[in-house]
Amino acid sequence: MLKILNFINGNHCEAVNKNFIENSNPSTGLVYSTLPDSDEQDVERAIESAQNAYNSWSNISAESRFKILNRIAELIDEKNEELALAESIDQGMPLWFARTQVTLSAQNFRFFATAAMQYSSTNHSMEGNYVNYNQKSPIGIVACISSWNLPLYIITWKIAPALATGNCVIAKPSEFAPATAFMLSEICYQAGLPNGVLNIINGRGEKAGNIIVSHPKIKAISFTGKLSTGKVISTLAAPLFKKLSLELGGKNPVLIFADCNLEKAVKETVRASFLNQGELCRSGSRILVEEKIYNNFKKAFLTELKYQSLGNPLLNDTKIGAIVSKQHYDKILSYIEIAKAEGGKILFGGEPVFPKGLENGWFISPTVIENLKNESICNREEIFGPVVTLTSFKTEVDALEIANSTDYGLASSVWTENIQTAHRIATNIKTGLVWINCWMYVDTKSPFGGMKNSGNGNSGAWNIMDFFTEQKNVYIKY
Ligand code: NDP
Repeated sequence: MLKILNFINGNHCEAVNKNFIENSNPSTGLVYSTLPDSDEQDVERAIESAQNAYNSWSNISAESRFKILNRIAELIDEKNEELALAESIDQGMPLWFARTQVTLSAQNFRFFATAAMQYSSTNHSMEGNYVNYNQKSPIGIVACISSWNLPLYIITWKIAPALATGNCVIAKPSEFAPATAFMLSEICYQAGLPNGVLNIINGRGEKAGNIIVSHPKIKAISFTGKLSTGKVISTLAAPLFKKLSLELGGKNPVLIFADCNLEKAVKETVRASFLNQGELCRSGSRILVEEKIYNNFKKAFLTELKYQSLGNPLLNDTKIGAIVSKQHYDKILSYIEIAKAEGGKILFGGEPVFPKGLENGWFISPTVIENLKNESICNREEIFGPVVTLTSFKTEVDALEIANSTDYGLASSVWTENIQTAHRIATNIKTGLVWINCWMYVDTKSPFGGMKNSGNGNSGAWNIMDFFTEQKNVYIKY
């Protein structure tokens, strides 16, 4: 049994109350680790250690911070296989995919290590013998609360810029996939991160998470998770005037036009639909296809699905692994039932799968549904699993109207060989990310974030560095 511990003031420890939560391996359905069920006492200890560390960490040179963060990146790279294996067992994602995410997690630290060296302020002269300059200083103690779907990648994407800007961090991984955050704490210690600069509190969202969010000494919260949790956090944080960076859910449209390269569009759309079991905020879940090629696309898409082997995440040829938790597995299956009740026709899958030797694991076949109205529940709510809907459209205007018709606005992908169509859609679609003839690419240098209910869109390189700093403007008369 793996015993995951909190990381406070450079030490690993249980919850003060000694309570713990059991965590299961999604491929077997068996409990394989425990984690602290933290409460106020643990959060208070973490805050105290962060407070003690803050003066020194916020005042060391950018180069010193660079060296430590860069060393963390090197150690993550060195431990790629170990971390990837832990991530795959904990979360259910295929091991080969976990390796790519560990590489990206190292890149997060490397990127923000160098960003620390390059982050600077502006100044200008003004009429009447004035000089104006701004100062950017760390906020103090900040919280990084992350989801279970890409555990190490998302938590490093938050922690790295928070540390690079000189803050001390209280991080809370998801109780459903805490293993790699625990390993990260050991790496940070080995890299020489001073005690108390990073504290990791495990526990339940509605308990430990809530206590962190409500704590008056935490001045900013970077959160990735569900829209409903984002609303709770906003409600708790607003009266305390905390800064909030919210990366929330999506119901991402994929627009397939008749003039697209069909072969590429089909292959990438299968990937967009089912990579990481469809548990990516960027997954395409509503596939909109121009009427003229609807049948051709459908046939090719369903044929391609036959090559998506599902099963043991640790095998090299597995494309689709296990669903992270029983709770989430039940939720996905319940949406499939809703789709049927709404008149949806299941073209592929639609049921649990029981791979040989892993019969108690949580596996769901890739599922394709057509014949659902645009206003149906399954076309509006985020399912966050291997379930997509197919809908046809007649014109570009229809396509845009359907694409923009949900409350979410995170990401979209557009498949057309006509640059004019592509550009018009990119301009008029209400999503924070648009991929034209591709999917999934994200450059850490670029802003990232959703529109509408998908969040407030202030992640990505300089945006998140600005988020984690306070700016002061100084006017000098000479
Ligand atoms: P949740 O909102 O359930 O949880 C996210 C994190 O918040 C977890 O650590 C959770 O802890 C914690 N939490 C839960 N309740 C509270 C609370 N009241 N106060 C403070 N913290 C709380 O999301 P999921 O983990 O299920 O993640 C899936 C969601 O994340 C999807 O909607 C997906 O689209 C979105 N997402 C968005 C991304 C983006 O960039 N826009 C990227 C990746 C995912 P615990 O798990 O222990 O309950």
